[in-house]
Amino acid sequence: MATKKNIPVVEWEYAPSLEGTSHIQLKKQYDLFIDGKWVKPSSGKYFQTINPANEEVLSEVAYGNEKDVDLAVKAARKAYTEVWSVMPAAERAKYIYRIARLMQERARELAVIETLDAGKTIRESRDIDVPLACNHFFYYAGWADKLEYAFPNRKVESIGVAGQIIPWNFPLLMAAWKIAPALAAGNTVVLKPAETTPLTALKLAEIIEASGLPAGVVNIVTGFGDTGAAIVNHTDVDKIAFTGSTNVGKMIQKAVAGTGKKLTLELGGKSANIIFDDAPIDQAVEGIINGIFFNQGHVCCAGSRLFVQENVADKVIAKLKDRLNSLYLGNPLDKNTDIGAINSKEQLETINKYIKIGKQEGAEMYQPSCSIPKKGFYCPPTLFTNVAQSNVIAQEEIFGPVLTIQTFRTVDEVIQKANNTPFGLAAGVWTDKGSRIFNLTTKLRAGVIWANTYNKFDPTSPFGGYKESGFGREGGLHGLSSYVKLV
Ligand code: ADP
Repeated sequence: MATKKNIPVVEWEYAPSLEGTSHIQLKKQYDLFIDGKWVKPSSGKYFQTINPANEEVLSEVAYGNEKDVDLAVKAARKAYTEVWSVMPAAERAKYIYRIARLMQERARELAVIETLDAGKTIRESRDIDVPLACNHFFYYAGWADKLEYAFPNRKVESIGVAGQIIPWNFPLLMAAWKIAPALAAGNTVVLKPAETTPLTALKLAEIIEASGLPAGVVNIVTGFGDTGAAIVNHTDVDKIAFTGSTNVGKMIQKAVAGTGKKLTLELGGKSANIIFDDAPIDQAVEGIINGIFFNQGHVCCAGSRLFVQENVADKVIAKLKDRLNSLYLGNPLDKNTDIGAINSKEQLETINKYIKIGKQEGAEMYQPSCSIPKKGFYCPPTLFTNVAQSNVIAQEEIFGPVLTIQTFRTVDEVIQKANNTPFGLAAGVWTDKGSRIFNLTTKLRAGVIWANTYNKFDPTSPFGGYKESGFGREGGLHGLSSYVKLV
């Protein structure tokens, strides 16, 4: 117990509340899931996937190459032509429902494995990632036999083989976002998870196997960037769906240009969270925290640029600092943890590089004092005030728990500042005035705009960006439209 001016101050510590891991089963080594079978990689190579919270090896995963991708695409083509595209849509729906139900049954296992492999908090993977992933399968299963109602007065056809490449920030959810609408529309799939987070996609492959889905309808090929490139460049793939960095997205767009392949890209972001002086401040502070610090800022739509109306800036910043001091950083498997581990050593280095640049640019940094575990990759929540619009930290995507704070006086000024970015994925507006919300939603160049909330997702609601944040939408009917040909 410490004392402050003779008043006893109790320093509370949470008792750890660790989610158990005894119920999960991880193999020592995972092969590729091609044509309904587990296949050894033709190179014979495997790579390790580690737990970023303590750097322990979780498993070894096959490193797929061009040959393996070719096998997977051939299997997907055969399954498309002979089985999936000719099966009655109501039968397709049953398989997709079955996958959703099996995922639900194994939700706890999926959540724990996601947390172990990605470093995200168990609270997040248990309450957000896994339920949303299941819900995407349920939602799209419902559309499978109602495509003519989804697109009235149009003849709806499937596209063929979809190549899908996903990142590490929402590994299972991204797989669900991509696989569920593709299957509902009658396409077959070759999916590549990110190299640092392949395990839940492989667990999903086990679930798909258990569901009895016909062989070759979904193929999971693990590997690195060159494995992804092999999918992009394969001549028998009809559609590429990519979520990841803007740089790789641009490369993919070039590679696909002129090939006739359909393309959707969900890329980076530098989203603005805007607080007006009439906003419910405490609620807004929670929204800011939820927007950038939970999930370690590993969200493409993270509210990484905060704009506060000048007359409430001091109040908001003081409350924000206060709240940062109560956040609990540490073991992601602990149910108390607010901020888990950064996904990889490389990503931690990138974040630290930006923090250094921020300081060099003259911005003022604030980090609460918190103890950082000795092993693993962690970054304390970080605020930057005194930020100029031209600063690198206000312009480039950091993908970590780093928030820049700028002030504004008028609505026009904040619209201009918020739109002054190459990205346009999301934004948040906090105000009591409905008319102001509508004014901003029409003028902010962002695919998703939340009002008096942040980071809310639903399978029925489309998600996607403007400008360098990509094109195409995932979720809802818009998400389905990316996987059909309308004749
Ligand atoms: P991040 O910075 O979020 O890791 P990346 O764009 O590097 O984003 O990775 C997202 C996904 O794209 C991963 O699955 C990765 O392996 C894959 N990838 C990386 N480079 C390429 C490439 N040149 N072509 C296709 N896929 C790639």
